[in-house]
Amino acid sequence: MSNNILIRKIDMECALCAKNHQVEERKRITKAIIKNEEVDFEEIYYLCDNCENDENEFIPAKIMDSNLLCARNAYRKKMGLLTSSDIVGIRNKYGLTQMEMANLLGWGEATISRYESKAIQDETYDSILRLVNENPMETLKFYKRNKMKFSSLRMLEIKEKIIENLNEYGKEYLRRQELESEYVCYQDPSDYNGNQTLNIDKVESIVTYFAINISTLYKVKLMKLLWYADALNFKLYDKSMTGLVYAHMPMGALPVGHYKLLGLELINSQEEYDDNGKSSYKILPSNRIDFSILSKEELEVLSSVVKKFKAFSGQQLAEYMHREIAYQQTNEKQVIPFSLTKQLLDF
Ligand SMILES: [Zn+2]
Repeated sequence: MSNNILIRKIDMECALCAKNHQVEERKRITKAIIKNEEVDFEEIYYLCDNCENDENEFIPAKIMDSNLLCARNAYRKKMGLLTSSDIVGIRNKYGLTQMEMANLLGWGEATISRYESKAIQDETYDSILRLVNENPMETLKFYKRNKMKFSSLRMLEIKEKIIENLNEYGKEYLRRQELESEYVCYQDPSDYNGNQTLNIDKVESIVTYFAINISTLYKVKLMKLLWYADALNFKLYDKSMTGLVYAHMPMGALPVGHYKLLGLELINSQEEYDDNGKSSYKILPSNRIDFSILSKEELEVLSSVVKKFKAFSGQQLAEYMHREIAYQQTNEKQVIPFSLTKQLLDF
């Protein structure tokens, strides 16, 4: 592809030869230096083919501004900062004007307007914006601090919007944070997590896969199935799937943070009581079914695990697991190293 593309031809008064004629609007990838960093960005320029001399290009002021914005956004992407449209998106999520958002965060009134049009935010401001984006509880803190800057009606509306965001995704963000907090000691790939850091999206997909393919799925059985899926994947490919860490417990392997895991939004569990009042968690398929995060090999592993253990009760599966080398060579409450799954039974 040529790095010089005709967008359209426009009839206009040409800025170079001052005559009315057709001018070509073109775009090309150009380099710019922003804050001492070289970035590639898409530049739009106009071409006059009436001109005899070499200077046959010009850029109207308005286009110049949007080119500059484009170059700055290229810089932001390169440096891992939010782009101007990311910032617009965060602001719209809370239904705020530029000035209101600046007031809410306790910043100078023009700050957000500048970030959306020309200035590049520094890292401190960037991380506050990210925090506010991911976690509405943080936005609520700013709201409490700065709400007096708004009329009483606007105060109510903003608070409602924050609560709406909290209900939509904020609570789930916090649940995930809680599960992740259980894994702070397992941030690096190791024998404990099967060379894989925790991937909550994958955990959800796998649980959904089991819930769809196994009609009576209870918590005890699910926990063992997760271990078998990770263990078999490790045996075959030297890598677990989920990054969950499993402890040796009397009923078999149990993931660290399993209670928090069951609280995740996509894991549909329902507490049931038997005649003796003993409770158990039945796992139901989630409403959102998406296996695109799983590779073909991973889906094959899941399919073999389902095929083998589908008819097992939780108790039977626990007994079966007690025969595994990985279980026999670890003590109660000890983390089960994945290297021991190389000797997995019957797979
Ligand atoms: Zn011209």
